[in-house]
Amino acid sequence: MDRFDIGAVRVHRVEEWRGNFAPPEGLLAGCTPEAFAPYAAEFSPGYYDLAEHKLFAFLQSWVLEAGGLRILFDTGAGNHKQRPGIPVFGNLDTDFLGNLQRAGFAPDDIDVVVCSHLHIDHVGWNTTLRDGLWQPAFPHARYLLPAIDEDFWNPANAARFPQQVGRAVNACVYEDSVAPVIAAGRAELVRPGHVVADGIVLDGAPGHTPGHVLMHVESLGEHALFVGDVLHHPVQVYHPEWNSIFCEDPAQARATRRAVLERAAALDALLVPAHFGGQHMCRVRATHDGFAPVFTT
Ligand SMILES: [Zn+2]
Repeated sequence: MDRFDIGAVRVHRVEEWRGNFAPPEGLLAGCTPEAFAPYAAEFSPGYYDLAEHKLFAFLQSWVLEAGGLRILFDTGAGNHKQRPGIPVFGNLDTDFLGNLQRAGFAPDDIDVVVCSHLHIDHVGWNTTLRDGLWQPAFPHARYLLPAIDEDFWNPANAARFPQQVGRAVNACVYEDSVAPVIAAGRAELVRPGHVVADGIVLDGAPGHTPGHVLMHVESLGEHALFVGDVLHHPVQVYHPEWNSIFCEDPAQARATRRAVLERAAALDALLVPAHFGGQHMCRVRATHDGFAPVFTT
């Protein structure tokens, strides 16, 4: 769905990139080709390319119109950025801002930017290159950045975090996509529990990164959970024990994923992750021994 409502909150999907990212066992720790095989038919073709045996993935952002605010959740990989640790997302030249415009928004219209965490593919459009400098792409926006992730990824603190799983993949990201926003005075470093707007709260969802937050939207009795990278693929609804290979704290990431699925099922919430293909979101049903995704149109 490219546009939907959660009560009185209207949501627009803005796409940046799509492609075959990796085989299931290449992205999901603990998954094997044999373990994925029972799900191949269910997830082909929207979420899985059977012929290439690769997970089909998206980079996408969400714009929420809520209480007079326009809130942009996650900002993809960005254009023209040097990404030595993950070349597929380096030197991109996508029409993300055109897609944003077609959804109805110019950069000047965005009031609040929220980054679920400070990984390469969630902060890229925080900045654009102007006059040879990386500058805030949304000049009027307050950027809400998880304080715990800012501490974790700030290169000045590298000696305190010698074991970062994502250090190579996230190289250059803080410098070109986080630091310029802070230097421009546009950033607000936020903690779990931060209220973005009436009915919109950032809750801690640690594990993938230590500061990862999800955004809970509640309006007129309806709920949605914008969960970033708590899940990368819907097969993880069936197998919450399968982390992405990029998760910093595997045990914490599994615990968070299970808790989020539990919460989504209890609230009958829309679960809106960052990278799902197909319908880009689902609801979650509790089963006798776990969870199952429910895809609605
Ligand atoms: Zn991601």
